Amino acid sequence: MPFQLSKIVAAVAALALAGGALAQSPAPPAAAPAPKLIVAIAVDQLSSDLFAQYRARYTRGLKRLQQGAVFPAGYQSHAATETCPGHSTIMTGARPARTGIIANNWHDLSVARDKKSIYCAEDVSQTAPNPRDYVASVAHLLVPTLGDRLKAANPAARNVAVAGKDRAALMMGGRTLDQVYWWQGKGFATLAGRQLGPAAQAANAAVADALARDKPAMDLPADCVRADRPVQAGELVVGTGRFARPKGDAARFRGSPELDQATAELAEKLVAELDLGKGPATDVLSVGLSATDYVGHATGTEGTEMCLQQHALDRIVGGLLDFLDARGIDYAVVLTSDHGGLDLPERLDQQALPQAARVDSELVPEALGKAIAAKLRIAGVEPLLYADGPFGDFYLNRALKPKQRQAVLKELKALAAHPQVAAVFTADELARAPSPTGSPETWSLLDRARASFHPRRSGDAVILLDRAITPIPRPGPGYTATHGSPWDYDRRVPLVFWRKGMTGFEQPSPVEAVDIAPTLAALVGLAVPEAEFDGRCLDLDPGAGDTCGARPR
Ligand SMILES: [Zn+2]
Repeated sequence: MPFQLSKIVAAVAALALAGGALAQSPAPPAAAPAPKLIVAIAVDQLSSDLFAQYRARYTRGLKRLQQGAVFPAGYQSHAATETCPGHSTIMTGARPARTGIIANNWHDLSVARDKKSIYCAEDVSQTAPNPRDYVASVAHLLVPTLGDRLKAANPAARNVAVAGKDRAALMMGGRTLDQVYWWQGKGFATLAGRQLGPAAQAANAAVADALARDKPAMDLPADCVRADRPVQAGELVVGTGRFARPKGDAARFRGSPELDQATAELAEKLVAELDLGKGPATDVLSVGLSATDYVGHATGTEGTEMCLQQHALDRIVGGLLDFLDARGIDYAVVLTSDHGGLDLPERLDQQALPQAARVDSELVPEALGKAIAAKLRIAGVEPLLYADGPFGDFYLNRALKPKQRQAVLKELKALAAHPQVAAVFTADELARAPSPTGSPETWSLLDRARASFHPRRSGDAVILLDRAITPIPRPGPGYTATHGSPWDYDRRVPLVFWRKGMTGFEQPSPVEAVDIAPTLAALVGLAVPEAEFDGRCLDLDPGAGDTCGARPR
C-alpha cells in the first residue's frame, strides 16, 4: 500500500475507533507519549532527613520537582550505604547483591598485584601511568543500566552521564555511554582512550577561568543564620564556613557548590552538543551532583556549609530545568540519592544525641587483626584481616590454616558483644539468607546485609556498627562525618519524579531506589522481564490511570 494511503486508512480507523468508544463508554485516558529525555539526578548524600529539613525552604528546582510524585521515604535498602553501591541501584533496578557493587572498595585476595583492595570503578586488568592511580571503568557492574537497555532496544538512543565522581557517572550510565565525564583534579575527565568533546573542553575552560580568581565567602541567607555556630571536631572547627576560596584551590572548588554548578553546566553543554531529547528515541542523561556529599563529609549536615549547599543545589537544579525548558524538550526527571548521611558526633552530642560517638580505634582492621592474632597466638600471618575501614566487609588472610580460620571467624563473631557493634554476619550466614522482601523499613540487619552481599566479592565476615557510631576514629580535613551504616539515616533517600503537566502526589510509604528503573522503563514503554529487576514499577498517575501499564505492581 502506498505510504500516504496507509496513513489515511490508519487515521480513519483511529477516528472510527474513537467514535465507537465515545458512543459506548468514556475512553480510558490515553497513555502519554514517552518522554524524549530521561534526566536522572543523583544528589550524593541527600538523605530523607536533609530533604525533610529543607524541602519547604527550596524555592527553585527542588520546589518545582515537588509538584511531581514525591516519595520522601525511598530506601537504598542495603546495609553498605556507600556511594558506589547506591549509584549502582538507581538506573539498574537491582540491589548491590545483583549489581555486584557491594562497597566503594572491596578486597580480592586472589589478584596477583600487591594491592588487594579493589575500587568499584577500576579496571584491574589495566595499569595506570601513575601506579598509585587506577584506570576508571564500569567493568565491575554486572547488570545493564536503563541507558544500556534503551540503547540495545534502539541504537539511536543516546546515553550520557556526567558527575562529580567517576563512580557516580559510570554506575548510573553503564557500559554503552556515548559520552561520560567526571571531576578529576582540576577539571572533567573521561574514560581512557577517549577524547574530551567540545562540551567538556568548554566546561574545563570555564572551570579554569573560575579557578583563576579568588572566590569570596557566600552571603548567609536568613534561614541559615541559626546554624551559624562553631563546633570543635578534633583540631578542626566546622559549622560556620561560607565557601571562600583562594584562587587555584581546586580541592576547595570540589568541596563546594562550585562543583555542582560546573557539573550542571557541563550537562547543559552536552544536551546542546548532542541535541539530547530531539532524536528519534528516548535519550538518557544521568547527572551526579556530588557536592552535598563532600560538604557533608567535611563539615556535617547542620552547619552553615550544608545550609548554603542546599540553597545552591536548589538554584543549580532550577537552572538545569530552565535550560531544558528553553530547548523545548519533553523530558522526565527523577531526583534521588545514593545514600543518606549523619552529622558529626561532636555536634550530635551537643544537639540532644549524646550517644553519638566516634568508633573505637581498636575496631580499625589493623589493630583488630593484631589483637586477634595475639590472642590466638597466630604468628607470621600479616595482615590477619583485610578491610576498607572499621566496619563492613572483613577478609581473612588466605595463609591461615582451616582451624585458625575458624578460630578467627569465631573471634569476629564475638565482636557482636562489643559496645559499638550491632551485628556480625559470616559469609556463610549471608549466603544462606534469602533475598529480603517486603517493606525495607522492617528488614532485619541480616536482610540489609544480605541485600549488599555478593558471594564472590563480599568479605568472610561483615561487621555492622551501632546506630550513631561514626566510623572515623579521628576527624581530619574534609572528613569529619560520614555514612555507610545499615541505619535509616543512611538508607532513606527521597525519590521525586517530575514531568511537565503531570499532576503530582505524595506517597509517604516506603519505596526503594531499585523501583526507579522499572518505573522509568514503563514510562518510556520499554519491556523488561520482571525477574531482571529487584524493584517494582511505581504508578506515577495520581488517579485511575496507570503509568505502569500492564506490568504487575
Ligand atoms: Zn560520601
